Amino acid sequence: MPLTIVTYHFVRDLKNSRYPALRGRDLAEFKQQLDYFDNHYKVVDTADVVAAFKGEGELPGNAIWLTFDDGYLEHFTNVMPQLLARRMHGAFFATVNSTVHGELLDVNKAHFIRAAETDPNVIIDEIRAFIDARQDTDGLQPFDAYWREYAKPVRFDNAEIWFIKSVLQHALPPAVRKVLIDELFEKIVSIDQRDFAGELYASPDQLRTMIECGMYIGGHGAKHLRLREFDAAEKEIEVTASLEFLHSLGAPTTDWVMCYPYGESDETYRALLKQNGGALGLTIQAGLVDPAVDDPLLLSRLDTIELPIA
Ligand SMILES: [Zn+2]
Repeated sequence: MPLTIVTYHFVRDLKNSRYPALRGRDLAEFKQQLDYFDNHYKVVDTADVVAAFKGEGELPGNAIWLTFDDGYLEHFTNVMPQLLARRMHGAFFATVNSTVHGELLDVNKAHFIRAAETDPNVIIDEIRAFIDARQDTDGLQPFDAYWREYAKPVRFDNAEIWFIKSVLQHALPPAVRKVLIDELFEKIVSIDQRDFAGELYASPDQLRTMIECGMYIGGHGAKHLRLREFDAAEKEIEVTASLEFLHSLGAPTTDWVMCYPYGESDETYRALLKQNGGALGLTIQAGLVDPAVDDPLLLSRLDTIELPIA
């Protein structure tokens, strides 16, 4: 039986929020979508999905599994009450450093830089000035080289947005990139990073409450960086730190689920996951999955915006 796995990130009342341009699922639409799923699908538990992939059970027809990335506070405040009201189950994937150490992840700084400054050209001009001023830095190319390589439209983004995302996520040397992101965050979002993180992520106690309420909490790495930035030892730390984190929450630590940051894994990473009791790995490849044929460590998902709300 095929399974639909849905991916959510932000779920909030966007129109009435401080950052209406943030890319996410509006809360009213989220409620509509859950009602739609109630009418057209059977929302399954994480344990049922794990069992199906182990050949220990069958999923019902039109099975759908709801997954929520990044451990945001709004998953606790906005999402869980809606799921509970409909007796639905969700799987939530939190990153260690943001949840436990209150670190604002670079991926989230980038989201809010783009949400706070809705004209991409303003951000691009800042990036150009930053790169131009550092042409003597090791490994840094001229602005035009990055522009030629990354200013291209992709699945959900136009050329300008994909350029900004690429530069802020991986195109620049890591140390330079970090300085750029912090400068842009300071200039454009202008909120203390610790305070911002405190309001953005669910706490370990809130995640424990979610487990008590029947939700599933799985791994989403420690640092939330692109795979190419880790050597083999760091990949192992990503997996073992995730496992220790789940243990500290009282979440399952056998047959557990890893949601790969940026959807990225390789053979080394998947072997480590398997050795450490991981059963399923979630990617951001688009598609449905079939427990009878698909690799459980390379599961495709659909983004919420690729599914109807009514
Ligand atoms: Zn993530």
